[in-house]
Amino acid sequence: MQYLVHSDTETLPVATVGQEMHQLVARLYPICRSITGEGVRQTLRILQEYIPLEIHEVPSGTPVFDWVVPKEWNIRDAYVRNEQGEKIIDFNACNLHILHYSLPVRKQLPLQELKKHLFSLPDQPQLIPYKTSYYKPDWGFCLADEQLQQLPEGQYEAVIDATLEDGSLTYGEFYLPGESAEEVLISCHVCHPSLCNDNLSGIAVATYLATALATKKNRYSYRFLFIPVTIGSITWLSRNEDKLANIKHGLVLTLLGDEAGFTYKRSREGKFEIDEVVEHVLQARQKQHQLIDFFPYGYDERQYCSPAFNLPVGCLMRSRHGEFPEYHTSADNLDFVKADCLEESLDVVKEVTTVLEQNRRYLNTNPKCEPQLGKRGLYDSIAGSGSNWKSWEMAMLWLLNLSDGRFTLLDISKRAGIPFHTISEVASVLEQHQLLEPFTLTS
Ligand code: ZN
Repeated sequence: MQYLVHSDTETLPVATVGQEMHQLVARLYPICRSITGEGVRQTLRILQEYIPLEIHEVPSGTPVFDWVVPKEWNIRDAYVRNEQGEKIIDFNACNLHILHYSLPVRKQLPLQELKKHLFSLPDQPQLIPYKTSYYKPDWGFCLADEQLQQLPEGQYEAVIDATLEDGSLTYGEFYLPGESAEEVLISCHVCHPSLCNDNLSGIAVATYLATALATKKNRYSYRFLFIPVTIGSITWLSRNEDKLANIKHGLVLTLLGDEAGFTYKRSREGKFEIDEVVEHVLQARQKQHQLIDFFPYGYDERQYCSPAFNLPVGCLMRSRHGEFPEYHTSADNLDFVKADCLEESLDVVKEVTTVLEQNRRYLNTNPKCEPQLGKRGLYDSIAGSGSNWKSWEMAMLWLLNLSDGRFTLLDISKRAGIPFHTISEVASVLEQHQLLEPFTLTS
């Protein structure tokens, strides 16, 4: 661990980026988020301390394609009291205890009636489940099954001090302009309450990626969306159809803080540049990972990849949606996500953007036979680089041969069996010597 000298007598440990990200997760963890309401606003306001996020409000009742923006749900308190007046279920102790979007309730009822509104996980008896009822009016509480099984017969008082009224749907957007109007879309959902992997991890990775990219000059423009799942992406897409043509690459970020290896779910086409780049970055790391094809379930890639849009958007995760025991339970907590894993996820996403930024097509400006490299001082550039001479020479020859506008640097790297960063570095040297020029469709 590094130490920062704080005073003559004291040293303080310097937090790693992963630890800072975990601190952000810990700060957001207690907030009761849902698809609408104060919890989302409070979350986005905290993110505004990191990035200049614009907060949008879309009124309840607004039609968005085949859907309608729902009423806004806010909750102040909720509990179940026994005959002795003790709170045996308390929303304030854990916000997973409430069925999200519960209608307001204040009633006395016997155990058998109450049980119709209680949800538990018999197979995981110690955990509180996360459950929602967004589009079907209902009320209820979630609790550990071992507690449910021990509730004695008797009268109970159920109180839910909540409102479901006209208001708005809230989402955050940060647009970072680059040299080109072509965009990379980064999307994460902000509607889950006290669950860390799903999706405070994705929020932390997206936020730290944004702060890192904001310090650099980028070729692409980047658009970050912090939205409630499904209805948020549907709402954003319905308000921004005119911007979609600019989206050249995109990633949904979720489940990025646990210790599992990475999983990349390809875009619907499966062959977009983002698919190739993520696959390349994961393979180059030489760690266990999974590549899976698109299927129309999961997160907001379902909307981005709907047939009318078919955007080049994949989904990066570690553990897969619904396939780990902590999923949608109280065990998806601050211990389940690790600082090191968050940082590793950030590194992978940063590497993906680095490769996207550099991965372009070039034209050889001297395509009739090989140009004479010696007279241009290219061998001096190589010698001065301290890099592997043979690898650099082969990179030059491959780049000059394949730069006819058809192949990207990633294509050339794969065909030559030379690491992408070497190909990219050599391409910029050849560009400086006017042997390559960037190729665009209008060239
Ligand atoms: Zn979820």
